Amino acid sequence: MTPKPQIASTLTAAAIQDFASRLRGELIQPGDATYDSARKVYNGMIDKHPALIVRCADVADVIAGVNFAREHDLTLAVRGGGHNGPGLGVCDDGLVLDLSLMKGTRVDPAARTVRVEGGATWGCVDHATHPFGLATPSGFISSTGVGGLTLGGGIGYLARTHGLTIDNLLEVDVVLADGRFVTANAKENPDLFWAVRGGGGNFGVVTSFLFKLHPISTVYGGPMIWPLEQASDLLRFWQDFITTAPEDINGWFAFITVPPAPPFPQQFHMKKMCAVVWCYTGPLDQAEERFKPIRAFGPPAVDFAGPIPFPALQSMFDALYPAGLQWYWKADFFRDLNDQAIDLHVKYGAQLPTMHSTMHIYPINGAAHKVGTGDTAFNFRDVNFAQVIVGVHPDASQNERMIAWAKDYWLALHAHSAGGAYLNMVMDEGDDMVKAAYGKNYARLARIKATYDPKNLFHVNQNIKPAV
Ligand SMILES: Cc1cc2nc3c(=O)[nH]c(=O)nc-3n(C[C@H](O)[C@H](O)[C@H](O)COP(=O)(O)OP(=O)(O)OC[C@H]3O[C@@H](n4cnc5c(N)ncnc54)[C@H](O)[C@@H]3O)c2cc1C
Repeated sequence: MTPKPQIASTLTAAAIQDFASRLRGELIQPGDATYDSARKVYNGMIDKHPALIVRCADVADVIAGVNFAREHDLTLAVRGGGHNGPGLGVCDDGLVLDLSLMKGTRVDPAARTVRVEGGATWGCVDHATHPFGLATPSGFISSTGVGGLTLGGGIGYLARTHGLTIDNLLEVDVVLADGRFVTANAKENPDLFWAVRGGGGNFGVVTSFLFKLHPISTVYGGPMIWPLEQASDLLRFWQDFITTAPEDINGWFAFITVPPAPPFPQQFHMKKMCAVVWCYTGPLDQAEERFKPIRAFGPPAVDFAGPIPFPALQSMFDALYPAGLQWYWKADFFRDLNDQAIDLHVKYGAQLPTMHSTMHIYPINGAAHKVGTGDTAFNFRDVNFAQVIVGVHPDASQNERMIAWAKDYWLALHAHSAGGAYLNMVMDEGDDMVKAAYGKNYARLARIKATYDPKNLFHVNQNIKPAV
């Protein structure tokens, strides 16, 4: 039976009705026809039952929602794209501020910027910027929310060329815990601007982001896939290559199971293999030359790298990972991959428990290294790689197996890691993980949290506790 959300005693039907009458967006409650679809998030493992869901139409709705949650002492969850692993865009019993109707974008081609509302996905941003031949660093899947990805840091195809997503963030508009609306940038509320660049949703609801754009249109990229037997050599080759290559080329390593569908050649269907997914943003007429040493490493079994519009590269894996699959995440940072670590990768990469499960290693060097550890809240600026291990399957039947695999794999590698983890790619691992992720930046984040959200209204996130 569906559990009935616990509603705070101060929450009368009259109060809810009055709240609904002040909204431009929709207020959804248990029993409403859209309640079950509205409470769903991307990760099918998450099954939470909020008391109220507000589909915000505008900033005024966000202010009303924040005030209502605070005044009625409700747990408040804020949802951008809803992609978060542990489901931090939804909660039990409380109020969900769903920003998914707030997807507006506005490109200023002369200034090379894009303003993006807080509920947009990266697909919305690519759609808006590509006609101008412009792009900003995002991630690897276009259905991910701009909100959560940016506030956590943002690791994507352009990280080596133009840095993390936060390194291209110029300004945010924020609704604070007391309902005030403020703008934060390098000059206005600079402490808040520092904190939102990596500090997650701890400081308020970001209703709009302003990003710097770069002239990126058609890139040369896509996956190259090699037999699993070459994984050890490939990891060594790729590590040497990607830590020394010019910043206009990026490529992340993956263990995959080849999907049983075109365009993958039939002889590789359901085979466990290793891959690098490339993105080169330099002159296209030099691309073939630049990829010669890569192909010389050993001809890939499957070679899909070639000229491709940036939005097509960024949405290439969307169909493989539709909403509603079960996801279990583990993550770590690495300065390098030593021989022992490579041996362990080869061992666990060969044991991918399901077709969708995978392990990725993303380079976060190049331009991402030009920003110092204390310059933004994102702490790990001196490592080369962010690793993510994900157990993924369409239904819950494999959860035990894939969770055990992800935990064992992570544990085996962790001794070789730099500690901490990219908080956008972990489940809810508690205070120690949050502190490890922020390192020396945690104390400053806790002080800023005490200034902007002293009562921790925004706690449905990788939570930073207000300093006392
Ligand atoms: C398939 C997939 C691919 C991914 N690929 C990448 C990748 O390439 N690179 C990468 O860096 N990460 C990636 N991620 C991780 C992703 O960054 C996180 O899951 C992130 O939390 C998603 O943001 P969201 O807005 O979609 O999530 P949500 O679940 O909506 O929100 C996540 C957290 O952010 C907060 N939040 C969201 N929007 C706002 C806002 N506007 N104001 C205040 N707080 C807000 C929420 O309260 C919550 O705490 C991927 C995730 C998935 C599922």
